[in-house]
Amino acid sequence: MIYKKYGKSDTEVSTLGFGGMRFADPSDIDKMAEIVVHAHNKGITYFDTAPGYCDDQSELIMGAAFKEMRKSGNPFVVSTKSSKSNGSELRKQLETSLKRFDMESLDFFNCWYVLTKEDWESRKVNGAVAAILKAKEEGLIKHAVFSTHLPGNQIAEVIEEGYFEGVTLGYSAINFPYREEGITAAAENGLGVVIMNPLGGGMIPQSKGSFDFLKVRDGQSVVDGALQFLYTDPRITTTLVGFSSKEDVDGAIASVDSFTPYSEAEIDQVKSGVSGELNALCTSCKYCKDCPVDIPVWAFVEASNHLIMKGGEGMYERLKYYWGVDPSLIDTCIDCGQCEAACTQKLPIMKRFEMVRKALAEEKAARSNK
Ligand code: SF4
Ligand code: SF4
Repeated sequence: MIYKKYGKSDTEVSTLGFGGMRFADPSDIDKMAEIVVHAHNKGITYFDTAPGYCDDQSELIMGAAFKEMRKSGNPFVVSTKSSKSNGSELRKQLETSLKRFDMESLDFFNCWYVLTKEDWESRKVNGAVAAILKAKEEGLIKHAVFSTHLPGNQIAEVIEEGYFEGVTLGYSAINFPYREEGITAAAENGLGVVIMNPLGGGMIPQSKGSFDFLKVRDGQSVVDGALQFLYTDPRITTTLVGFSSKEDVDGAIASVDSFTPYSEAEIDQVKSGVSGELNALCTSCKYCKDCPVDIPVWAFVEASNHLIMKGGEGMYERLKYYWGVDPSLIDTCIDCGQCEAACTQKLPIMKRFEMVRKALAEEKAARSNK
């Protein structure tokens, strides 16, 4: 395992982190906790979770695992989050997390899921940011950090405001141009950088050949290629992988242990493959956000990426649980064309909507036939 210092702090973390959002059977807390403990025994020390992940079981699974992990005496750090804008609601959620982990202090606490600049402003105005900083002063949090889906330039703006010691963001070998500026700003300002969604929300392993350009070395799998591209980047502290079995953990650890940094030529090979693929993919930049009937257009178009790349989870799951949107909103579209005009990738959004509607209808029919 490779260990790195988190930003400017003295806290050392494993470069491969455990993302607690993909437990296969969250209702079986003890069995899932065994996977977490196994990861810790194998050298992973960064554990990320959140209230609400896996039907709100993820923090409980982590809490059960931490109880076991403490017995080993080996170090580990925990990261959790709150997306509450209201300061007192955030504080309540933070205290619940502490109880769930039986801890007096959280290593990393994320101002979670900052989606737009307006959302960011509301976190400041409504007290969320102040509550995080107060909790840090009181010793309930060691590192105040944020997690975001903003585009790179806006991530850089939030970083420049100076509230946080680190950032958690979605970044992968297939969407890196979109958040590049944010990662650079984080590195320049001495922030730790935690990568979520390093496999493009499941698109990379499940896309049946579309990402073979990521295999830059003999015998490398597409997943190894995607992860090793990230391990090569000195600006990145930790990459989170959501494990659903001990075997998954072992495979990812073997990939870190066999890793040697990419050469410039190998990095270029990945980057040149990406530019072609990205022509047809939504980058979640949200420049289509001013829909007159408030449809979160980006969520539906990003979900359609998974149809194009022939991978990822079902359409309903992607919309409902990844993006947190009601899939039926798509039927309120009035075809005004405003989003297509605003799209930075010039995507045929109305055609994508048709694909999404069809996929949702097929999934609904499949569910009712079960
Ligand atoms: S075309 Fe539909 S989704 Fe796009 S902005 Fe108009 S109403 Fe919203
Ligand atoms: S649909 Fe276009 S504008 Fe909207 S998020 Fe995707 S790429 Fe950006």
